[in-house]
Amino acid sequence: MQQEFAVIGLGRFGSSVALTLSELGHSVLGVDTDEQKVQAVANHITHAVQADCTDENTVRSLGLRNFDTVIVAIGQDLEASILVTLLLKELGVRNVVAKAATESHGKVLERVGADRVVFPEKDMGAKVARFLAQTNIMDFIELTPDVSVVEFSPKDGFGKTLRDLDLRARFHVTVMAIRRGKDVLVSPLADVPLRQGDILVAIGKNDSIDRLLREFCGRRQ
Ligand code: ADP
Repeated sequence: MQQEFAVIGLGRFGSSVALTLSELGHSVLGVDTDEQKVQAVANHITHAVQADCTDENTVRSLGLRNFDTVIVAIGQDLEASILVTLLLKELGVRNVVAKAATESHGKVLERVGADRVVFPEKDMGAKVARFLAQTNIMDFIELTPDVSVVEFSPKDGFGKTLRDLDLRARFHVTVMAIRRGKDVLVSPLADVPLRQGDILVAIGKNDSIDRLLREFCGRRQ
């Protein structure tokens, strides 16, 4: 379903969010105080406007209230990021997603009403570290601070079945799918023998996943 998004702040994070949402077929309004940032995305998203969103009248005239989700992607200017988030919630925007630079910035954003706070630098740092520390993790998606989905190639899994691996009982991690080349076997049966190159897609609590990766997948020497 096509949704209407607005992205305020078209720096590296905001422009990447705006361009990706647009590629996914959504309607995207991008706003930045810097005309150059606006021009850089203007041809690739639905509307791009140069404006200062700390100004209440500007926020009203842009009609931001009617968007499904507004992303506040101002990172460095904490005052602006907090003020814009507050204004959007006061205006009645349903879903405000705000980018935080630090933990304390995140706490303030929550207090002023942000529906979701994201920490892209911190999350990406953790992701890169996991890739560096573990050889066989393909991807890692944090669904909540406690629960993640991980893709990994099972060490010595060739020929074994999910029942043999018994990951749910051993690690409290559930395999949702097996990626096999271009195919994805969703909800795989317990007695399907794994093939060379199979990638398991599993969900679990972060500490369970960490233990699975440590004890089952092994680390790079
Ligand atoms: P990143 O690390 O993602 O590049 P920045 O904090 O450097 O994040 O970029 C944030 C963007 O937000 C900048 O392009 C800046 O011009 C824009 N910005 C800052 N304040 C406002 C505001 N009040 N209204 C709209 N855009 C703003």
